[in-house]
Amino acid sequence: MSKTPYYDIIIIGSGIQGAGVAQAAAAYGYKTLVLEKYPEAGLGTSSRSSKLIHGGLRYLESGQFKLVQECLQERKHLLKNAPQLVKLIPFYIPVYSHSIRPAWLIWIGLLIYSLFSLKSFSIVNKKKWASLDGLNLKNIKTIFKYYDAQTDDKKLTQAVVGSAKKLGAKIHYNANFIKSHAQEHTHLVTYEKNETLHVLECKCLINCTGPWVIPTQEKISPTLRMPEIELVAGTHIIINKKIKQGIYYIEAKDKRAVFVMPWKSEGTLIGTTERITTEGADDISPTEAEISYLLETYNCYFKTQLTHENIIKSFSGLRVLPVNNQLAFNKSRESLIIHNSTTPALITLIGGKLTAYRASSEDVLLKINSILGALNKTKHCSTKNISL
Ligand SMILES: Cc1cc2nc3c(=O)[nH]c(=O)nc-3n(C[C@H](O)[C@H](O)[C@H](O)COP(=O)(O)OP(=O)(O)OC[C@H]3O[C@@H](n4cnc5c(N)ncnc54)[C@H](O)[C@@H]3O)c2cc1C
Repeated sequence: MSKTPYYDIIIIGSGIQGAGVAQAAAAYGYKTLVLEKYPEAGLGTSSRSSKLIHGGLRYLESGQFKLVQECLQERKHLLKNAPQLVKLIPFYIPVYSHSIRPAWLIWIGLLIYSLFSLKSFSIVNKKKWASLDGLNLKNIKTIFKYYDAQTDDKKLTQAVVGSAKKLGAKIHYNANFIKSHAQEHTHLVTYEKNETLHVLECKCLINCTGPWVIPTQEKISPTLRMPEIELVAGTHIIINKKIKQGIYYIEAKDKRAVFVMPWKSEGTLIGTTERITTEGADDISPTEAEISYLLETYNCYFKTQLTHENIIKSFSGLRVLPVNNQLAFNKSRESLIIHNSTTPALITLIGGKLTAYRASSEDVLLKINSILGALNKTKHCSTKNISL
């Protein structure tokens, strides 16, 4: 018998997607291992998001009803399973006489959103407008209020990894995936740790490397045919002014939605942008144009006028989106699962929302079961009710 350590499933990457698949696979009883090149989980895109656990009101505009419904369902599970990490927070949408989206359109969007989420929305009483964190009230017509949720994306990812470990999954940090090749019904997987190469064997290899997906895919043999994808950078800034009442959902000049969010004791988080890029995931950083765009958008809506001096931190993350002729803002945010149908199983999970990681992971598990033939495990359980 081979002395190579054996796993049913090896997952490359411990962002939210890798963490979610590890949790689902371990809950099902598969012998599962995660390889992560960084010393901690969630240091890639999953700590550079807008940190919202939301259905995404704006996705209704591009007709992504299924995504919104699924994300709102997942928000409900997360509010129950991770109450210390995921919290409901009021969102305010100010509408001005010059706003591109009229009040009636936002009202219809909020009505659909409230039917999906079973949480109502309201119009803020004029008497309360002055208490809204110095919001610019000139030419304002109305202000809507509804609820969505905020999290700490890195902590959430690490909590999911913690849950996967409790369920029996293993994780190797500082473990850089180098290559793999198929040998009969298993993959031989090589990773590097502490300048030493290690080889493992598994029946199913899952690529959850987010914006590193293509360079990772190129190291896997046999190849998996990938749809055309592009990387879209999104930048946030944290400023040294605090807001108290909730999150402001404002409209930039180019019609994009920008969020102004209270962020811990640090200040206020503002984002995001969208910029198609060919920069790799290791090199991405905010550009001057993105930072100016965020400052200008904020300054159009608040009495306090920000300058570069107010910025205490800025960071960028990369979305993995399908190539088509839509603007990045309107492209589908659904996760993409690409897989073969023979053993050894090869699956790639990319894109998607932080919010919907659990639903995406369960979809991946269905694919694993259909390729490997569901193991007759007694431990089989869904992750729907597992507390984080
Ligand atoms: C700007 C921005 C804002 C967003 N805002 C939101 C939001 O508010 N709400 C929401 O629901 N979603 C949001 N998203 C989407 C969400 O953040 C991402 O879809 C999600 O974080 C992607 O997770 P991932 O696990 O696929 O990738 P990542 O988090 O990038 O994880 C990939 C992992 O693979 C590891 N890896 C790479 N190569 C190797 C290798 N060779 N060996 C070992 N490990 C490797 C990396 O180190 C990394 O840890 C946003 C995305 C962006 C870019």
